[in-house]
Order: sequence, then structure tokens, then C-alpha cells
Amino acid sequence: MTETVAGQAGGGTAVLGGGALGLTVALRLAQAGERVTVFEREPIAGGLAAGFQPAPDLPGGGPYLEKFYHHIFRSDTRVTALIEELGLGERLVWPTPKNAVVYGGRRWFPYTPLGLLGFGALSPVDRVRMGAATALLKAAPSHTPFERVTAHDWLRRWMGRRVYEVCWQPLLRAKFGDRFDRISMAWFWARIHYRSFALGYLAGGFQQLYDRLVAEITRLGGEVRLAHEVLDVRYQPPGNAAAADGPPPAPWTVRWRGPGVHAVSETAFGRVVSTLPTRLTVRLVPQLPEEFRRRYDWGEAYGAHCLVLALDRQLLTDGTYWLNVNDPGYPFLVLVEHTNYMPAADYGGRRLIYLGNYLPMDHPLFGQSKEEILAAFLPAVRRLVPAFEDSWVTESWSFAAPYAQPIVTRDYPEHIPPLKAPLPHLWLGSMFQVYPQDRGQNYSIALGERLAAQFLSTHA
Ligand SMILES: Cc1cc2nc3c(=O)[nH]c(=O)nc-3n(C[C@H](O)[C@H](O)[C@H](O)COP(=O)(O)OP(=O)(O)OC[C@H]3O[C@@H](n4cnc5c(N)ncnc54)[C@H](O)[C@@H]3O)c2cc1C
Repeated sequence: MTETVAGQAGGGTAVLGGGALGLTVALRLAQAGERVTVFEREPIAGGLAAGFQPAPDLPGGGPYLEKFYHHIFRSDTRVTALIEELGLGERLVWPTPKNAVVYGGRRWFPYTPLGLLGFGALSPVDRVRMGAATALLKAAPSHTPFERVTAHDWLRRWMGRRVYEVCWQPLLRAKFGDRFDRISMAWFWARIHYRSFALGYLAGGFQQLYDRLVAEITRLGGEVRLAHEVLDVRYQPPGNAAAADGPPPAPWTVRWRGPGVHAVSETAFGRVVSTLPTRLTVRLVPQLPEEFRRRYDWGEAYGAHCLVLALDRQLLTDGTYWLNVNDPGYPFLVLVEHTNYMPAADYGGRRLIYLGNYLPMDHPLFGQSKEEILAAFLPAVRRLVPAFEDSWVTESWSFAAPYAQPIVTRDYPEHIPPLKAPLPHLWLGSMFQVYPQDRGQNYSIALGERLAAQFLSTHA
């Protein structure tokens, strides 16, 4: 039995995915009077930016913390504007935390001009080259000239082989594994060009933004169905549908599984917006033409993993927030001490640490238990901080997500699908269309707004 969304001729709009992008599209459509229904597989909104409550003993279950470390930059104007629009502006804070790298067994601070001067792992000439090339990337107004070359080639040429091997090759390897030498310089340019020293955080967690979006969509008459996994999406051309008297039939059928193992059902809609990774959308919509699949069912993505630790004391006592681990042999690529950025008092005194990784989605880590991961990771924490003892860990959580980091090779832009799919009333917007910037909440929100504007002008 197919239910039809009532209240709108043609059946309303289904939005697949309740992350930053899907909820932004749904908000803008609902504000324009569209009847929207969001399907989100997870029991919580927010997608990759969703949080959990690490201090449930505090009133109201305590603040949220992202499952994967998150902050925003000064250039992230769309997410900042949305935070203001939804009445959360006074919770947005902009500290300038300390960032460091472990190289040669030592902690260095080369990410500020002053810190770079003291970066003894590089010769004075290399330090000058690194500073000058970074300044050039900050000043270059467009990514276009950088599209023709890989970061691997450009950085070795302009910053020098030693700078590349000490600073950037470990970063590229950590994010992209053995594809490290194929990543577009346009992507690297955007990382340097748009990033600020001050980092914005929504005190209490970015989850508040996503909960506020859900509340606002609901207030406007839309529906957000959490814990609803979309199984497939099919188009029935109106000519084949039983056209009785009354409103035109809704041509799209979304088949979904709700909470509970047997709760498979379907709903008819007039229009569908998918905000899932392109490769997932292509699997869910079997009628997408072969030619479209050949071009856009393409490319690879890494999954993300974070082990989050609550400690009874500060770990990086010099106040470092972000620690890139560029020495070989560590089982994680970054250590982020969140409570060297936000006050530990917000979390009942807990010191919160992320140990993060990007890995191929079939990597064995994704199949390991939290206990196995702790056993592998804690000795490596001790290697970084010799005083560390396992008994400092009071709680721990392990989080994993597939499709977390697109692999932005030079041919990536040729495989970014258009927002309008080649089937009637089907739209595609996903973080895999964000380019050349690294994916981020800001860019999903900006893309969601662009998609909603095009949708509304087409269907007006
Ligand atoms: C480790 C890590 C660190 C990051 N750090 C930052 C940062 O510091 N700052 C920042 O701004 N951004 C950061 N990001 C990126 C940011 O989280 C993403 O860019 C943004 O959240 C993407 O939003 P989205 O809606 O486009 O995609 P997603 O969040 O991936 O949303 C897609 C949604 O679709 C749902 N879904 C998938 N399949 C189905 C299905 N079959 N049925 C129903 N629903 C489905 C998923 O559950 C998900 O909620 C980070 C990401 C990671 C992984």
C-alpha cells in the first residue's frame, strides 16, 4: 500500500538525507510553502556533523559533542548566517586555538608565521620557501590555475622536497592513502586560501543547529522522519499511472524502512531531492540512464573513524588543540584535544580527546570492537605523552562513517553531476559536488541553498 503525502497537489517533495545539506534544502523549500518530508537513516539529524552527549550526568543530558571533530572558519559565511537566522548566534564563539605537528618525536608549531620561524625540522631556506608559497596561495584569487597540477608536484616544486616530505606528504597520505600523489592542487589551494586562524564553534555542539533546523521545518508543516532508511526510489511516468479524476498522480515512489525490522513501506511524492553521496543515489534510483551512471557513478571516498576519550586530566598540557601526527608508526593521524578549545567545565570537567583516521571503507579498523581499538591506540598516546596512563581514561566512544572524504583527484570536476538529474522532478545535491573546497558544513549549506533556489524557480 502506497501512502501519498497529503496537502499538496502531486504529493509534495521527498528529501533524502537529514544532514546539513538535506535539512537546508528542506528548510528553504518549506519556507517557500512546499510540503517536504525528510528521510534520515540515523535516529539523530545532522549526518557527519551529528553529535552525542558525553556528559549525560549534567542537566538535560549535557552538551553535545560532534562524533567527528568540527569547527568552522571565518570564511564559512553561509553556516554562520544560518546559525544567526535560527537564533543561535550568541552561542557561536571564535577562539584561536594552538595547532601543532609531531615530527621527529617533537612537537612543533609551524602553522603561524612566528611558529614557522622556529620550525627547526626545516632549514631556514625551507622555512622561507614554505612561508612565501603559503602567502602566494592565500593571495591567489582563483583555483583555476591550480587545476592542471597535482598537489604532489606543485608543493615539491614551489615549497621544496623537504617541506613537502616533512609537512604535506604525511597530511595527503593521512587523508587520501595511496592516492596521495594524485590529489588536485586546486583542493590544496582552497584549504590554504579559505582557512582562518580563529575557529568558530557552537558552544553546546553543532547538533543544536540540526535540531533547530528540524524544529523549524516541522513548524512550517514539513516532516523529518528520523531512523528511516530509503531502500529505493522509482519513477512512474504519468502516462502509465492510473489517472482517475482528481489531482495528478505523484510520479515518484520512495520505499523506506522505518524503526523496527519489518517496517518497510512506501510513500508517493511529486518530486525528490537526494542529498546522499552520488554513488548511493545512483544505486537507489535504478532508472537513472546508463550514460549518466558511466560519468557520475565514479570515484572513491574514504570513511572516517574517531575514537573519543574522556580523561580525568589534561593530556596536552601546553594547551595544543590540534596535533597532526606526521611521524610514521602511529595508528591515528590526528589527536584533537577538544577541551583545549572549549572549556572542560562545559562537560562536567571531562577532558575530551579525539583520535582520528580517514581510511578505505573496507579497512579492518571499521570491523574492530572499541576494546580492540583502545588496545591499539592507547600505547600510541603514551608514545606522544610519556606520562599518560590508561587509568586516566574514564569513558570512551568509537564512531565510524562511510563516504566521509571524497578523493579529489585532478579529473574530479568532470565527474560532478548537475543539480538537476536527467529524470523528471529529480534533483541531486551532495557534498560530493563541493569543489574545490574541502567538504564542510558551510559548503553543504551553500549548495543546499543553491539547489533550493533552482528547484523553486523551475517548479514555480
Ligand atoms: C572527520 C570529519 C571531520 C570534519 N570536520 C569538519 C569541520 O571541522 N568543519 C566542518 O564544517 N565540516 C567538517 N566535516 C565535514 C562535514 O561534516 C560535512 O561536510 C557535512 O556535515 C556534510 O553534510 P551533508 O548533508 O552534505 O552530508 P552528510 O552529513 O553525509 O548527510 C547525508 C545523510 O544521508 C543519510 N543517509 C545515507 N543513506 C541514507 C539512506 N539510504 N536513507 C536515508 N538517509 C540516508 C546519512 O545518514 C546522512 O545523515 C568533517 C567531516 C568528517 C568526517
